[in-house]
Amino acid sequence: MRKNGGSNMQSLRLAILVLAAMFAGSNATIFGFDSGKTLERTVTKIADGIYTIRHKDAPDTFPQGNTTVIIGDREVLVVDSCYLPSSAREDIAEIRRWTDKPVRYLVNSHWHFDHTMGNGTYWSAFPGLNIVAHIETAKQSSGYNPGWFERFPRRGDRLRQIVAAGRDGNGKILSEGERKEYADAVAGIAPVQEEFKLVVDRFPNLTFDSELRLDLGNREVRVMYLGRGNTAGDAVIFLPKEKLLMSGDLVVHPVPYMFGGYPKDFGDTLRRLDQLNFETMIPGHGEILRSEKGRSYIRLLIDFIEAVTTQVSIETHGTGSGAANLPAVREAVQKNMDVASWRQKFAGKSKDEQDAFDTTFAAMITAAHSEINGR
Ligand SMILES: [Zn+2]
Repeated sequence: MRKNGGSNMQSLRLAILVLAAMFAGSNATIFGFDSGKTLERTVTKIADGIYTIRHKDAPDTFPQGNTTVIIGDREVLVVDSCYLPSSAREDIAEIRRWTDKPVRYLVNSHWHFDHTMGNGTYWSAFPGLNIVAHIETAKQSSGYNPGWFERFPRRGDRLRQIVAAGRDGNGKILSEGERKEYADAVAGIAPVQEEFKLVVDRFPNLTFDSELRLDLGNREVRVMYLGRGNTAGDAVIFLPKEKLLMSGDLVVHPVPYMFGGYPKDFGDTLRRLDQLNFETMIPGHGEILRSEKGRSYIRLLIDFIEAVTTQVSIETHGTGSGAANLPAVREAVQKNMDVASWRQKFAGKSKDEQDAFDTTFAAMITAAHSEINGR
């Protein structure tokens, strides 16, 4: 039933570049996109009344977060509304084939666009909907998300400039493959922009601080905050009876998502995640991790994050803090860590995943260094 798309580094670089341009001048330090490329929508039945949907990337190459649907005897809870309203509509149509119970709760695992832009579509479809989020996520959503619609045309302008110039934002001449990737993204801008014209954005209206326990009718769901990591308000969703965990982007597989975020806290937050009694884990993006796969991946993430933050701390004390020292710190960290071994652990033999790893690794050094600087 499931089939994974390959991974593609160009789309990641492109997303970084374009989003960096869009966020210039704003306080956002985290970009709402992830590594890899998913070419096909797939649905996996996790248990009776529980389904996970993986979405194909948007036409403008933007990735979309996983959505999980949890059906109780009385009502339904959905985890993450994905990015495109058309994808959210497709998911809702399928939910209606699965059950006649209403969606009462939509949880936003965090504020990033690829997990929340479908909120308005759910809101229209299910009157009385509760959009659930951690209090920080609610704040960030209302701060950043409206600007997304305003900034959207700039994304197209920026991409078109790059294609016309034949060079990326750093002045690097585009390869044939990169040129095609940018051209594809330009072609995909118009339909996405058209969709967003009709969207009324909806923000969380039911917030929590540490934990929210919900009963959907013979089905208990715990929405929990375990500490900062990917954002300041990451929610994880845990079903104790089914031993099922949805991690949001605290866990992205097979290459982690570490652009911005809180590297110093990330390891401890993942340790708390590891303590939950789960057997199946659904990451924010990527395949469903069953039995020991999820747990061992979390432990690998903890080891990696702590190795990087420790090394960044050592090199920053040797070289100096301040943004001007970042290139020297990065070079020293890359020299003094066994990068090849870490790359192999996450990316294996896949060239695309290796490239994705290198990008996330560099971004993580930046995040850890800026955290030492107090941002
Ligand atoms: Zn995401």
